[in-house]
Amino acid sequence: MFKALLVEKDDAGYRASVKDIADAQLPEVAEGAVTVRIDYSTINYKDGLAITGKSPVVRKFPLVAGIDFAGVVETSHHAAWSPGDKVVLNGWGVGESHSGGLAQRARVKGDWLVALPDGLSTRQAMAIGTAGYTAMLSVLALEGHGLTPASGDVLVTGANGGVGSVAIALLSRLGYRVVASTGRPEAADALKQLGAAEVIARDELSAPGKPLAKERWAGVVDAVGSHTLANACAATKLRGAVAACGLAQGMDFPASVAPFILRGITLYGIDSVMAPLALRRRAWERLARDLDAAKLEAMTREIGLADAVAAGSDILAGKVAGRLVVNVNA
Ligand code: NDP
Repeated sequence: MFKALLVEKDDAGYRASVKDIADAQLPEVAEGAVTVRIDYSTINYKDGLAITGKSPVVRKFPLVAGIDFAGVVETSHHAAWSPGDKVVLNGWGVGESHSGGLAQRARVKGDWLVALPDGLSTRQAMAIGTAGYTAMLSVLALEGHGLTPASGDVLVTGANGGVGSVAIALLSRLGYRVVASTGRPEAADALKQLGAAEVIARDELSAPGKPLAKERWAGVVDAVGSHTLANACAATKLRGAVAACGLAQGMDFPASVAPFILRGITLYGIDSVMAPLALRRRAWERLARDLDAAKLEAMTREIGLADAVAAGSDILAGKVAGRLVVNVNA
């Protein structure tokens, strides 16, 4: 038996709770399957949606929640993995259609796993979590576009969130001048400690705006979507780039083509769930190298599995700052 955060939906309604699960309830042992003893998972925005049922993230019931985990291989039917290997997993439908990571044990395809990079503990990997890994994918997209610190200011929206906090820490360490947009002005000092050079109010970007605005951003990491993303594009400099990775304000994109056809800006879509393995490995290697461990610790709070249900509601209510790491064995 092992403990897991189980999401159920039946005549009694939609609910999430910590339960004791039999090993037999894990996905069956098939060729390529790897069983992992999990050390840590985390609460990402999507976990909040899955735990509360606010969006249809979970596709089959009952299902163990949790879109990511870090732990140690227990048994392997995959040539690449052996017992004792330290691994990290993000996405691939885990916690959506496949049994998830908010549990003491998981069984997944070995093809989905990434080796924990040297220099990161399993706890640090989940302090980073899918939010931080997505921030790194966003930075990689901007770098791939040719952005350098000399290009100009980089805007990070949803600054106090998981994606935003890690993006700020990464970009500032890489030498960029980061402008952080937040709805929580009281957190301005904390954002500056993380590396933001300037903090602006969320309201400056969240209302309907003009098709083109004064050129301000060389690059953007946007975790918010909707009018914020439209306004970020409208104020992106000639040939600049925007990485769209989130929808905290909304899924809509009420923009015009003006910034694309008049300023040649590029909008990169960031998808962490189905990202190819080579890109994942690159992102995790870069996180191990470029993320300041002290800043990561400063933005992280540890909770136990029993606290994860409440944390799922809190993250959707915007009450969580930085990252929540879940010690599934606490
Ligand atoms: P968090 O909840 O930690 O961060 C979201 C932040 O967005 C909040 O902290 C808040 O920042 C801001 N925000 C919240 N509500 C609004 C609003 N109504 N209008 C404007 N800003 C708002 O979530 P994560 O960092 O885990 O995820 C951020 C987004 O990225 C989510 O939409 C998530 O689904 C998405 N995501 C996408 C991935 C992908 O593969 N593309 C992977 C991971 C996440 P502040 O208080 O500073 O304003």
